[in-house]
Amino acid sequence: MSGRYAPSPSGPLHLGNLRTALLAWLQARLAGQPLILRMEDLDLPRVKPGSSEQILKDLRWLGLDWDQGADIGGPAAPYEQSARKPQYQQAFQQLLDQDLIYPCYCSRKDIQQAASAPHADEYGPIYPGTCRDPGKRAAIKRRLPEKIAAWRYCVPTRTIEFEDRITGHISQSLDQEVGDFIIKRADGLFAYQLAVVVDDGMMAITDVVRGADLLDSTARQIELFETLGYLVPTFWHVPLMMDGAGARLSKRDGADSLEVWRQQGKNAKAVIGHLAFSVGLIDEERAISPLELAQGLTLDLLRDKLLNHL
Ligand code: GLU
Repeated sequence: MSGRYAPSPSGPLHLGNLRTALLAWLQARLAGQPLILRMEDLDLPRVKPGSSEQILKDLRWLGLDWDQGADIGGPAAPYEQSARKPQYQQAFQQLLDQDLIYPCYCSRKDIQQAASAPHADEYGPIYPGTCRDPGKRAAIKRRLPEKIAAWRYCVPTRTIEFEDRITGHISQSLDQEVGDFIIKRADGLFAYQLAVVVDDGMMAITDVVRGADLLDSTARQIELFETLGYLVPTFWHVPLMMDGAGARLSKRDGADSLEVWRQQGKNAKAVIGHLAFSVGLIDEERAISPLELAQGLTLDLLRDKLLNHL
């Protein structure tokens, strides 16, 4: 039994990321489970130097702690995705041996032109499956001889159903709503979808607490968990923090950074109080430490309060 928080070091965490971290910490602590801190630095072109260190410092400054992770090691080390390529390669090989993945030479333009749905989700149009057909694949490769293949997972005709602890019953058709998705990119990097499943699987994660923006990725991840033979965790997709105008916070917009709060002389308890109040865990905004917050909650109460806040 364990939980995890898995930040991407593409810049300092904003208050929304920190709130998700607080909720992942609370879930693990209230369940009496270890918490793993995994650094999702796989997408190297997006990694900002120094960002991992800053994230760990900020989380500790807030009073959060973890039992295994990037800076302290543990039985499932390494905890940085950039150091876990052999693990991803092994899973990739397993899928290849099972004939569940295929190389795809389509350009973005090819996909846009062939796709019936103009824009299926935030990953772009649903892939129409062109390169599943070896004949069509060979034709595209002839036209684009220089192009390096991306690798796609061949989704079955299957609807995945699961009970999210916060958002409730979710049903998503892999063939209709997801399509064959990329597990290794043309630039050679393993995709987030594969890496996150291999990591959560190998680290025996039982509870995934993360932002609701990843709800749409969950069905395809459940498919991979099962195919690779891992336990499927329970998911808690927690609400994203919005700014005053109702937009999602972004790392580019520094206004909601911890730094701004610190410059205003606010301490960690003030920030935790703000985060807890903003998601309905306390009735008024007041300074409180993560431990004090945990003392006033149980796992059921945490869930009830999050549900009431939706
Ligand atoms: N690394 C992702 C992020 O920072 C989270 C991925 C996950 O929790 O599955 O948004």
